[in-house]
Amino acid sequence: MEHPLLTAHFKLTELTRSSIALRHGIGNDPGPEEVVNLTRLAQHILEPVRQNFALAFSPSSGFRSHQVNKLAGSNGNSQHVTGHAVDFEIPTIPNRILAHWIKDNLVFDQLILEFHQEEDSSSGWIHCSYNQNKNRKACLIFNGTEYRVF
Ligand SMILES: [Zn+2]
Repeated sequence: MEHPLLTAHFKLTELTRSSIALRHGIGNDPGPEEVVNLTRLAQHILEPVRQNFALAFSPSSGFRSHQVNKLAGSNGNSQHVTGHAVDFEIPTIPNRILAHWIKDNLVFDQLILEFHQEEDSSSGWIHCSYNQNKNRKACLIFNGTEYRVF
């Protein structure tokens, strides 16, 4: 099993691949605990989104090793490091629509509409985390300068 499926539509490799790791020639391999967390993300976030919108998509970023996360310019306590967070978009679905569907239908820890501009409903991307011990259902929009609750 070189590319195990986590759910019907998502492979582990889709949640661990990293262009930063490739570019820098470094690894980006999750440990067993991170794989468990990535599996829960696929089960509780990605797969329900896939089923609802019935459109194929592949996440842009899931797990990031400490080194990759630092190179990505993200802070040290990013939920990507523990395999709790994933970034994605669905082609043809405005990110604002996607964010509101997740907010209204799923259990999650933190949902951020990243780098989103009000005047462009497709701008930015979705960052969503799932932490079965602490799902706060916190919803934020980040416009590149400041965060606000939605
Ligand atoms: Zn993210």
